[in-house]
Amino acid sequence: MAKAKLLSGKEVSAAVYSDLEQRIARLKAQHISPGLAVILVGDDPASQSYVRSKTRRFEKLGLFSETLRYPADMTEDELLAKISELNNDNRFHGILVQLPLPAHIAEEKVIFAIAPEKDVDGFHPVSLGLLASGNPSFISCTPKGILRILDHYGIETGGKHLVVCGRSNIVGRPISILTSLKADFGNATVTVCHSRTQNMADFARQADILIAALGQPEMINGDFIKPGACVIDVGINRVPDPTREKGYRIVGDVKADEALAKADYLTPVPGGVGLMTVAMLVENTIEAAEKYLN
Ligand code: NDP
Repeated sequence: MAKAKLLSGKEVSAAVYSDLEQRIARLKAQHISPGLAVILVGDDPASQSYVRSKTRRFEKLGLFSETLRYPADMTEDELLAKISELNNDNRFHGILVQLPLPAHIAEEKVIFAIAPEKDVDGFHPVSLGLLASGNPSFISCTPKGILRILDHYGIETGGKHLVVCGRSNIVGRPISILTSLKADFGNATVTVCHSRTQNMADFARQADILIAALGQPEMINGDFIKPGACVIDVGINRVPDPTREKGYRIVGDVKADEALAKADYLTPVPGGVGLMTVAMLVENTIEAAEKYLN
């Protein structure tokens, strides 16, 4: 009884890559090869797989990326020294530190150490501050990707009630700020829910646009969804599945079959927001490299 239209991250990211071709060619004509340094500390399997999908895309587009891998017992000082080196290495226009980091390393300190002009992930306080004041420089990749999906499918945010479930610095907070800005992609009335929200479903059911960024497998079931809503599922969760070769499958934060029956639009998992996160990382790196154009 599927009713919702699927908002395909594959379709939107393909349009992004096609738009980027000319910009890449223009940079290369001036002998600028957009470069990304990725730092991966430890051997978390999900992090390794995210990094692979990011760097594979760089390769596919003929862009330069290098993954620097370090053991989980790397010290905070060693990591900060490495970042300082990369800040001064002009082969790299962007620096990405794959999160989460091991518990003995303070993430805020590490993010703060990245030069804001190379902060293609958009997590630096300077990037977040500019975003909050309505003059974004680098918009973090997942929120930017969500806005691009809405734009591609002509889904307006202006005047809508948009409910964000989750308030992390990476997804929930920046998307809630962006969509409430007085800007083309904003002008929504925004409600932010989190683990201290009582009766989250009551808020979610009021949403014209519902964004689920919780990290809770399939928590958002049909009871959370207003008929006709647009549901953006950011979640990427591994759940055990002995029928699969890998022993797990990936599900979102939304119960897809129930959402499909109730909503008008849904982003699939996989194949939705995740693909856009990678596309926006490429776009941000190209933006960083373009600052060197004459
Ligand atoms: P975090 O764990 O940093 O944040 C989760 C947020 O959800 C927190 O604000 C937390 O509240 C809230 N929350 C958690 N459980 C509940 C609950 N039971 N009820 C209400 N609120 C709850 O996660 P991220 O924002 O980094 O990621 C969210 C999901 O998105 C994950 O599945 C992650 O893998 C995925 N992700 C996907 C990306 C993509 O490209 N598609 C990119 C980044 C993340 P509180 O603040 O009170 O703790």
